Amino acid sequence: MKIILLGPPGAGKGTQAKLISNEFSIPHISTGDIFRANISEKTELGMKAKGYMDKGLLVPDELTIDIVKDRIAKDDCKNGFLLDGFPRTVHQAEALDEFLVNRKEKIDCALLIDVPREKIFNRMTGRRICTKCGASYHIKYNPTKVEGKCDLCGSPVVQRKDDSEETVKERLDVYDRQTEPLVVYYKNEAVLKSVDGTQDINKVFEDIRNVLGEI
Ligand code: ADP
Ligand code: AMP
Repeated sequence: MKIILLGPPGAGKGTQAKLISNEFSIPHISTGDIFRANISEKTELGMKAKGYMDKGLLVPDELTIDIVKDRIAKDDCKNGFLLDGFPRTVHQAEALDEFLVNRKEKIDCALLIDVPREKIFNRMTGRRICTKCGASYHIKYNPTKVEGKCDLCGSPVVQRKDDSEETVKERLDVYDRQTEPLVVYYKNEAVLKSVDGTQDINKVFEDIRNVLGEI
């Protein structure tokens, strides 16, 4: 099962990705998590990506596409994978299609988690993420069981630097300009499905399970 999660920042992609990856035993590949890990390890890629991420801008395609190609060429992706935060531009989507066609593979489902803009702000400013495994929490809607510690691995949870109000605005504009066109792109490829992301986390997951059960 090869799945792409689509939706604006804060839609719940990371939250649902953890649940889907667990349920269907496919690796969760988040380009945002990959960049953040590179930033904390101070790699060359991390240093390059940081400037764009802190401003709420996209990391350039030429730094992003090869990372994903290398990752999905690994053995653990043979039976499927779940992309979260990639593709984010039409150019990235075309590069992914070309890569998969050459391997005689294809995307089975591009799943849009639909959340209107006005609901996003609260979600992002209250978000906390695990510094180690990237799990996503919310101070009100999905708090950790022990304050400040990840439920999954016990590591500290922190606020993302790019979850400030100003940067969130920029990221939503970037989404509208550069990423939202992918909804039509995947509709034209006849793989688009969508779920109502305004419901509570478990109900969104139930809907996703039903959608994925049909493909
Ligand atoms: P994305 O990966 O799409 O940017 P996240 O999964 O990190 O989004 O979710 C953004 C924030 O919203 C997090 O704080 C998360 O705990 C919270 N959240 C996710 N799904 C829901 C939901 N269905 N209802 C309320 N809050 C949610
Ligand atoms: P995310 O964790 O998905 O919210 O991504 C955080 C930030 O990482 C984004 O705002 C971008 O700066 C960068 N990023 C993640 N994925 C991509 C991508 N596919 N293309 C370009 N930039 C990305």
